[in-house]
Amino acid sequence: MGIQTIKDTVSWLSNFRSDPVTITFHGGEPLLAGPAFYHEALPILAEGLKKNNPSFAIQTNLWRMTPELAEIFAAYHVPVGSSIDGPKEITDYQRGEGYFDKTMQGFSVALNQGLEVRFICTFTRHSVNEREKILQFFLDQGFTMKLHPALPSLRNSNPDEWALAPEIFGELLVYLLDESLEHISEIDIMNINDLVRCVFTRRGNVCTFADCMGNTYAIGPDGSIYPCYRFVGMEEYVMGNVADRPSQEELDNSKAGRLMNDFKTYVDNHCAECSHIQYCRGGCPYNAIAPSGGEITSVDPHCVAYKRIFDEISGRMNTEMFEGPPMFGGFNPGYNTQTKKPGIMALMHKIAMR
Ligand code: SF4
Ligand code: SF4
Repeated sequence: MGIQTIKDTVSWLSNFRSDPVTITFHGGEPLLAGPAFYHEALPILAEGLKKNNPSFAIQTNLWRMTPELAEIFAAYHVPVGSSIDGPKEITDYQRGEGYFDKTMQGFSVALNQGLEVRFICTFTRHSVNEREKILQFFLDQGFTMKLHPALPSLRNSNPDEWALAPEIFGELLVYLLDESLEHISEIDIMNINDLVRCVFTRRGNVCTFADCMGNTYAIGPDGSIYPCYRFVGMEEYVMGNVADRPSQEELDNSKAGRLMNDFKTYVDNHCAECSHIQYCRGGCPYNAIAPSGGEITSVDPHCVAYKRIFDEISGRMNTEMFEGPPMFGGFNPGYNTQTKKPGIMALMHKIAMR
């Protein structure tokens, strides 16, 4: 992306809405843009979008992190998201020989400048069999875990080579819920925290479990606007271009904008009987729409996994809240009477205390 597109983005976004904005540098490998780009782009964005109180983030493999880059990211409080799938042998098996060492090298450069780094751990149909080893790695390293289930590839002749089946994903989430409680003071598993918060507040608080349409956009290198970073490069999902300063209404009326809003209506009908609809909202529209070539034929295929974990959390939460020992008046937050271990309410308490 050139600096002119950054300037066009500022001039579009500053008149688009007045609520706070988070800008994530993402896609391809954003560190390839080099320090000169960030030295110029970050002040333009921070100044130009002042009234939107901008915050920043970057998603990178960290291979090209240098002290100079880390210094400018530190100056703008840019948290770093990266990917590690577990110990070296698992990460390199899934991502290629040498991946682990290069990422860990960049991680130490980022750490030296005080950057906050979090890792996404992609679970595939292979690595899910090593879930204990992967969890132990995150515990040993003191890393926060954010997990990502491998999806069927849209660009591979064998799309299911790595994909994690929704039923297995559901089981994995329940396993990680138990481990989150077992190691409550040692690790944060972001997805588990998010799921618990969703059920407790009865409101989606991450894009997958909220109506993301109209609140998330991605801008491609040429200024094209897409509904989300996952659609970038797919011509049929271009909603407009920052150079033309489109209004919210114009984006909503684009073909992709209408499709995203149709998904919302589809969920209202399809999931009407589901007790989790309020904080699930049919999952991720990209997962639902992209594999069927732009047709809305179902909700997010991970529905099975979402139902499994939402049922588990809400069931345990109800038990803890209403079936505690009588000596505590039937209410004993944090205590699971069956396992005698910290329960969902203890995790909720930990999240709330942040
Ligand atoms: S399409 Fe999916 S990944 Fe993209 S913002 Fe919406 S929920 Fe999030
Ligand atoms: S769990 Fe499945 S049925 Fe329920 S709201 Fe989510 S996607 Fe819809």
